[in-house]
Amino acid sequence: MSWLDSHCHINDAAFRDDLDNVLNNMVFYDVKKAMIVSSYLEDYEFAKTINHKEIKFKRSLGIYPGDADNVDDDLFNKYYELYKSDDVTAIGEIGLDYHYGKENKEKQIEIFIKQLKIAQELDKPIIVHTRDAIQDTYDILKKYPCKGVIHCYSDSAMMAKNLVKLGYYISISGTVTWKNAREPLEVIRTVPVDRLLIETDCPYLSPVPNRGKRNEPSNVVYTGRKICEELGINEEFFKFIINDNYDKLFGI
Ligand SMILES: [Zn+2]
Repeated sequence: MSWLDSHCHINDAAFRDDLDNVLNNMVFYDVKKAMIVSSYLEDYEFAKTINHKEIKFKRSLGIYPGDADNVDDDLFNKYYELYKSDDVTAIGEIGLDYHYGKENKEKQIEIFIKQLKIAQELDKPIIVHTRDAIQDTYDILKKYPCKGVIHCYSDSAMMAKNLVKLGYYISISGTVTWKNAREPLEVIRTVPVDRLLIETDCPYLSPVPNRGKRNEPSNVVYTGRKICEELGINEEFFKFIINDNYDKLFGI
């Protein structure tokens, strides 16, 4: 069994100069599946050109909550047309982000719900981004049932439990390897392994020992190993489980 990265942005400009190396590192570290997440139409077009014979890529597209104010009907319809395509495995990242302020809260909620309704209509999984907005996110997800994953989960273990009850997967990023990672460690001990996923969210959030450097999918190995160590479980077993979780959510 190989490792996987359930959420990466290798379509980001940060990788434009050495993408081949980044893909080769994935093969070297045995990271053989990855979800490439796009927030913009141009990023999605570029994501479609990323290929490697030994890596299985999937793609997702979604209107990022921070961009809610910039979306008019015309642009929304362009996303909607792409959501219908078989190439778009998942809708996301979508959600709520109150970190930089709540002034456009209503607009964020409106765009989030519109995309949830499309996910329901098209029966596609969602990738949820939530920052400083967990209660509103939870209330909305409860009201509009979908299948999906809460990416880069950074809220309480108790809330993770509630989200698992709604059927969501919880994706753990490199922050679990950081010093003072009290909450992420509590989360991995609370969420059943058959509901866990791992990700880099690269180019951000590099795990130890690469913290502070640009992140890339091969680093997901450090996050995976840290979880195995903390839970006292065998690496092969854990890889088997997360591959199974990923395939169940996103398809083989
Ligand atoms: Zn992301």
